[in-house]
Amino acid sequence: MQRIVLASRPDGAPTADNFRLESASIPQPADGEVLVRVHYMSLDPYMRGRMDDAKSYAAPVPVGGTMEAGAVGEVIASNSPAFKPGEYAFGMFGWATHGCLKANLLRKVDPAQLPITTSLGVLGMPGFTGWFGLTEFGRPKAGETLVVAAATGPVGSMVGQVAKSLGLRAVGIAGGGDKCKLAVETFGFDACLDHRAYATAGDLREALAAECPRGIDVYYENVGGKVLAAVMPLMNPHARIPICGMISWYNAGGLGAGAADADITAPAIWRNILVKFLSVNGFIISNHFDRFPQFMTQVAPKVASGEIAYVEDIAEGLENAPAAFMSMLKGGNMGKQIVKVI
Ligand code: NDP
Repeated sequence: MQRIVLASRPDGAPTADNFRLESASIPQPADGEVLVRVHYMSLDPYMRGRMDDAKSYAAPVPVGGTMEAGAVGEVIASNSPAFKPGEYAFGMFGWATHGCLKANLLRKVDPAQLPITTSLGVLGMPGFTGWFGLTEFGRPKAGETLVVAAATGPVGSMVGQVAKSLGLRAVGIAGGGDKCKLAVETFGFDACLDHRAYATAGDLREALAAECPRGIDVYYENVGGKVLAAVMPLMNPHARIPICGMISWYNAGGLGAGAADADITAPAIWRNILVKFLSVNGFIISNHFDRFPQFMTQVAPKVASGEIAYVEDIAEGLENAPAAFMSMLKGGNMGKQIVKVI
């Protein structure tokens, strides 16, 4: 089997030197374990955090350890009555061609229902994150206005589509004209602004104000930085901010360049929260998987019927995972970033 390990910790943006492709022998399933041949693996922004040796909600990947990832593939051996060879399973197999895990850590995936790649994106952790964060902490109401950045990614595109289905005005922010077109034409956003087209947070704010004539009631936070600075002064009283991610700062090791903006100094943000009575909720989706069955019951039929759209960006070959990952962190992905392992 092959796997990609963390060769060294990045200083700022990851580089190819931080990863190493290795060969290893295929593990044999112990009692209660299942061996899976991975077909597709997921690349997600959180993996950047696992590369740092910093205290966080999850332990870092050790140097020399296999990079962490959710993946889906075919069961090729099983020592558990819960899985038979030939069935498909999702699990945290890592950046690897094979993985062996206890059956209770796996989720069965039915290839007859939908393509198995959906278990990594629209009907996997990211889609669930968008649905849960918006409905639980965004408390969306018909007639309100929602803003979300990284609008064409698996989280943002779910947020926008759920918001539309609940009768909100949904304004996306994305990097580039093609992504903005995708947000409006495929995901049904009412409008989408290209954050790269605005030099300053003030310019972006002006354009956003025009698209949000009644202010912003829900800002689903995915990116921080310039977008956060643009949005904050436009928030309505009693608006909600589910804090899901802050990708523009993941490589910064601190508040980063955007922190120079006067609207995202800590006093400016705290003042906005105070004087507008904002509800701000951070959350980590791994603490909420008790709600996953409810998500699947509500959303899977809508994906199957086409009511909820999804777009996937599939890189070929495990050896190309580092390049696809580095590109995704900079916005190079068009839709959910996946790697086809076989
Ligand atoms: P995406 O597939 O959307 O990929 C990340 C996107 O972030 C890029 O494509 C790019 O989109 C955008 N981006 C990168 N740098 C910047 C920047 N400087 N300013 C603005 N946008 C930028 O990712 P996901 O949908 O998987 O994840 C979205 C967010 O949700 C991330 O912050 C992630 O960490 C978070 N998340 C949090 C979870 C939780 O439990 N709290 C669980 C899952 C995800 P564009 O080109 O459009 O700008």
